[in-house]
Amino acid sequence: MKRIMLKSMVLAALFAVFAGAAGCKEKAEPAPKAKNVIILIGDGMGVAQLYAGMTAAGHKLNIERFPYSGFSKTYSADNYITDSAAGGTAIATGEKTNNGMIGVSPDGTPLSSITETANRAGLASGVVSTSAVTHATPASFVAHNAARGNYEDIAKDFLKGTIDVFIGGGANHFIHRSDSVDLTAELRNKAYDVIYTMDDLKRSTGSKIACLLAPEHMPKASEGRRGMLKDMTLAAIKALNSEPAGFVLMVEGSQIDWGGHENDIRYVADEMVDFDEAIGAALDFAATDGNTLVVVTADHETGGLALTGGNMADSTVVAGFSTEDHSAVMVPVFSCGPGAERFSGIHENTFFHGEFLKLLGLTE
Ligand code: MG
Ligand code: ZN
Repeated sequence: MKRIMLKSMVLAALFAVFAGAAGCKEKAEPAPKAKNVIILIGDGMGVAQLYAGMTAAGHKLNIERFPYSGFSKTYSADNYITDSAAGGTAIATGEKTNNGMIGVSPDGTPLSSITETANRAGLASGVVSTSAVTHATPASFVAHNAARGNYEDIAKDFLKGTIDVFIGGGANHFIHRSDSVDLTAELRNKAYDVIYTMDDLKRSTGSKIACLLAPEHMPKASEGRRGMLKDMTLAAIKALNSEPAGFVLMVEGSQIDWGGHENDIRYVADEMVDFDEAIGAALDFAATDGNTLVVVTADHETGGLALTGGNMADSTVVAGFSTEDHSAVMVPVFSCGPGAERFSGIHENTFFHGEFLKLLGLTE
């Protein structure tokens, strides 16, 4: 008995120490509840990419509107430096996997993504990207494949009925396939509005939309795409918000990463500012709606970017890249809306999924 007492006293003392170490927030708050979740992923967006965009823009960015910020640890199951497949899968499913794997565990077992779980529970779901929708980041929310390059198989997973709205490039993987099957015919049978232009997207009144805006990836913001990600985001929100139960939407600024791979600071900054316009659209919707959680993060940093000089007054930055690949550093997290405070501090990239489920009141 004495020993048990002692043990429980030690436990109580330890608990007090840990509670103290956790710090700051001991008050029990009633659990917040979100109706909608919008997660925006800047592929390759580290703090330097963000600040390059903030400097180059010449005006205050929407990212500065967030009340909470934190960091995410991005390493994958098999590598200190993640790729977008493992990074996207961690955010989407709450599980770390090996680089190159989409929506499956390292042993190949399919993992349920937040969009799939939400969809099964009756919520609407969507993905928006400036790459092909079959590319690693959006694919991680929709598909299950051990190899990220299996674009035609990944496209087939968009027919499973777990994603109501998808907007981006990648038409070739649905239409001009090696098996000669036109996947858009089946999408139409499943009541999708299958469209190929921004004009048709803006006109669409459907609640299920397959909008394929480029044969492969969309052009750079600087080469004719500027502002489109914002309009794609607005169109997705409009379609998904017709579902009274709520929705989960992932929006990707895909090409911040590609600017990093090319060590092209202009490309990085342009894509960053363009992505920020989509962030603004999500925040504006959330401000009106009042029940929407908005989270912005990245899957990893790209380029090992350092800003070694610059000038706020004339919007210039001097950049040094240390790699043409991804780097290992933590990436920023910004949050706003019901439960947003939970995302401050330092977390694993697997943290988002469970918090989204809790805030939406869903179980897997
Ligand atoms: Mg990506
Ligand atoms: Zn990359």
